[in-house]
Amino acid sequence: MSFKSVVSLIPGLPTQDGNRVPLTRLVPGQGQHGAEAFHAMDPFLLMDHFGPMVLPPGTDAGFPPHPHRGFQTLTYLIQGAFRHRDSTGGSGLLRPGGAQLMNAGSGIIHEEMPVPEHLETGGGIEGVQLWINLPKTEKGTAPGYTDFQPETMPWSAISGGRIRVLAGTWAGVTGPAQTPAKIAYAHLELEAAARFEHSVPAGWTTAVVPLHGAIHLDGTAVPANTVALLGEGDALALVATSPVSLMLLAGEPLREPIAHYGPFVMNTREEIEEALLDYQQGRMGHLD
Ligand code: MN
Repeated sequence: MSFKSVVSLIPGLPTQDGNRVPLTRLVPGQGQHGAEAFHAMDPFLLMDHFGPMVLPPGTDAGFPPHPHRGFQTLTYLIQGAFRHRDSTGGSGLLRPGGAQLMNAGSGIIHEEMPVPEHLETGGGIEGVQLWINLPKTEKGTAPGYTDFQPETMPWSAISGGRIRVLAGTWAGVTGPAQTPAKIAYAHLELEAAARFEHSVPAGWTTAVVPLHGAIHLDGTAVPANTVALLGEGDALALVATSPVSLMLLAGEPLREPIAHYGPFVMNTREEIEEALLDYQQGRMGHLD
């Protein structure tokens, strides 16, 4: 087994999106690391760690209606609740430990907003949204939405901690989310000094992202809200240097051209212009 080393440490960028939702943009963010960062993380396009924050009563902090085309979003909620609605008629309540996979495909309009209880009482929110690219052949597929309730992806006990697998297989557990891009994605919690070791398919993009706490990986310290992008090898080994909550991310690169503008990710500039026109002319549907 050959263990991977850290090839780059990418600090997250604190920012806001939607209606004043504070978040840390981890992978990679417009203007933050340039177009090459998309390719470095292929097939992953973006990872936002939103919160942890306490929404005040009466809040409208959330993500009001906006479009997407050409990729998928996998949103995982750690704390709080969100209500999702989209232009295909999809809707769902996202609860702690649950996730939603949205295929933007040929185009969708969706919103993610606080639940009515938050409007009355306020409340804590924390989660992670991952954008996963679609292969060129899948960018025109029908949009859609799938809920994964917490019961369908429970915590599994491992030495020194626990793991919740959202997609692919980690620690012998296979997660429910299935995407055209081959990925393996999990939330891992470890006690201080616990060690986690796991194989990863050779050639897959692999990254470790602590949300809270810190780790050491092959001698490199990785602080919270930082992407540790790993290099060649077929396994990773990390040690928690404090109690840690982290996301494990691995995926087979698509190795296709990427053209990106805001909420659209296509292969060419022409396809981006087409997406803008289709959105402006109402061809991505409507939210009732
Ligand atoms: Mn969105």
